[in-house]
Amino acid sequence: MKEIKNILQNQIVDIKSAGTFKNERIIESPQETEINVLGKSVINFCANNYLGLSNNDIVKKAAIDAIEEWGFGLSSVRFICGTQTIHKDLEQIVSEFHRMEDTILYSSCFDANGGLFETILSEKDAVFSDELNHASIIDGIRLCKAEKNRYNHADMNHLEELLKKSNSNIKLIATDGVFSMDGVVAPLKDIASLAKKYDALIMVDDCHATGFIGNEGRGSAEYHGVLDEIDIITSTFGKALGGASGGFISSSNEIVETLRQKSRPYLFSNSLAPPLVAACIKVFDIIAKDYSYKKKLEENTTHFRNGIKNIGLDIKGKDHPIVPIMIYDAKKAVEMSEKLLEKGIYVIAFSFPVVPKDEARIRVQISAAHSKEQIDSAINAFGEVAKELNII
Ligand SMILES: *Cc1c(COP(=O)(O)O)cnc(C)c1O
Repeated sequence: MKEIKNILQNQIVDIKSAGTFKNERIIESPQETEINVLGKSVINFCANNYLGLSNNDIVKKAAIDAIEEWGFGLSSVRFICGTQTIHKDLEQIVSEFHRMEDTILYSSCFDANGGLFETILSEKDAVFSDELNHASIIDGIRLCKAEKNRYNHADMNHLEELLKKSNSNIKLIATDGVFSMDGVVAPLKDIASLAKKYDALIMVDDCHATGFIGNEGRGSAEYHGVLDEIDIITSTFGKALGGASGGFISSSNEIVETLRQKSRPYLFSNSLAPPLVAACIKVFDIIAKDYSYKKKLEENTTHFRNGIKNIGLDIKGKDHPIVPIMIYDAKKAVEMSEKLLEKGIYVIAFSFPVVPKDEARIRVQISAAHSKEQIDSAINAFGEVAKELNII
C-alpha cells in the first residue's frame, strides 16, 4: 500500500505541475441556468443542458410518478428480472425517433460504445475511426479484434485512402456526430458517399446532437439529410434528453439482438432505474410535440453567436449551441474564465492537450432555458473582460 501511495502521489504532483489537474467545482443547487457555486449565484454556461430539461417540472413529475408506480430500482440486469414494460416502451420510442428497427438501453453512452465494437466485429473486419472521436469510442474499439484504422479529423481523402487499402470483410466507419470541443457537425454526407462507394457501414455517436440538431431534432444525420444512410446510432440521455443518465444503441434487428445476447456492459450491469426510464419517455413525448424548447435554443444560440462576433472575438462552428470562443493563448484563456466568474458568468477554458496547442478557448454552451437577459449579460461580460485583457 505504501508503495502505490507513493507512486500515485508523485503522479498527482506531475499532473498538477503540468497544469492539467482538474478541480471539481461544487454546485450547491439543481442544474439550472442559475446555480450556486461557492456560495455565489452565477449564470451557468457549461452544462450539456441544451433543451433546458434537466430541472424541468414536467420531466421531474414523470420521474416522481414513476417511482410511485414502478419503484426506485430494479436490483437486476435486464435479462434476469430487470426489464419492465417501460424499458421496452422507451426502446420502441427511441427506435421510431431514429427510424431504426430496434434499440437497446445501456447505463451510459460510454457503456454503449464500450460494448458495441467487440460484440459485432471479428478479426476479419475493420473499423475506421476519426482521430478526435470520444474516449468511449476509442476504448470500445481497443477492445475489439478488428483491424483498426484512425483517420485524420474529418479528412475524407484520408478516410478514402484507408478504405481503399483495406480488404477486410465488414468495414465500419465510426464518428462523433458533433465534435464537442469545436461545436462542429461531422461531414456525414461525404462519409455516407464514401460508405456507399466502399460498401462500409456507418456508426454515429450523437451525444451532442440527439434531440436538438436537425429539423426535428433527430441528430446530425438529419442535419445533413442522410437519416436513412446511418447504420448504427449511439447516444446518451445524459445531455439534452433530461440530463440524468443512460445511453442507447439504435440499429437493425440483428445488430441489436446480438448486443442483447453478447454485449458485456449490457449483460453484466444493472438496468436503468424506472424513474429515469419514465422521465426519458416523457422527454421524447415533449420534444415530439413541442418545438418551443428547440426553437428557443436556436434563437439563443444565434443571439449569442452574433453578439460575440460583434464584439470582435473569433468563434468556431456555425450554428451549434457549443460556442468555442478562441483566445489561442492558454494562460489568457484561464485568466479570462476567472474574470468572467468574478462577474457571475460560469464558463470553462480549455487548452492543450484537450485542444491543439495555441488553440486555447473558452467553451460556452447555450441552453433553451437561458433568458435573453442572461445571454446579454454574458456577451457584455465577454466584451468587458476581453478589453481588460487586450484581446480586442
Ligand atoms: C458525453 C458523451 C459520451 C458519454 O455519454 P454518457 O452517457 O455520459 O456516458 C459519449 N460520447 C460522446 C460523443 C459524448 O459527448
